[in-house]
Amino acid sequence: MTENIELINETQKILKVLSNSTRLNILLLLEHNSLSVNELVQKLKVSQPAISKQLNILKKFQIVTFKQQGTTNFYKLDDLHILTVIKSTMDHAQHILNNQKCDNN
Ligand SMILES: [Zn+2]
Repeated sequence: MTENIELINETQKILKVLSNSTRLNILLLLEHNSLSVNELVQKLKVSQPAISKQLNILKKFQIVTFKQQGTTNFYKLDDLHILTVIKSTMDHAQHILNNQKCDNN
């Protein structure tokens, strides 16, 4: 049975958003902490405009949000679904790297 076309299209867009190492690193850093753009720049050694560009894409898809404290915006995960997708995919990637079969089937 074919899933709803609109839903599949939106899912495809979100998976494309996740298919970028800078965005994945941002999301993993935000798992436990809210971070400012400057903190992300320092941790990832990526330019401020590049971090801002990726955060805007993540915001557009409601994957991150931010709260303002004084003059600084602190970014955080908006949706834990996405972290689950990343963690599951990383588990699978580790299976491949270890030449293991997944034990969940
Ligand atoms: Zn696996």
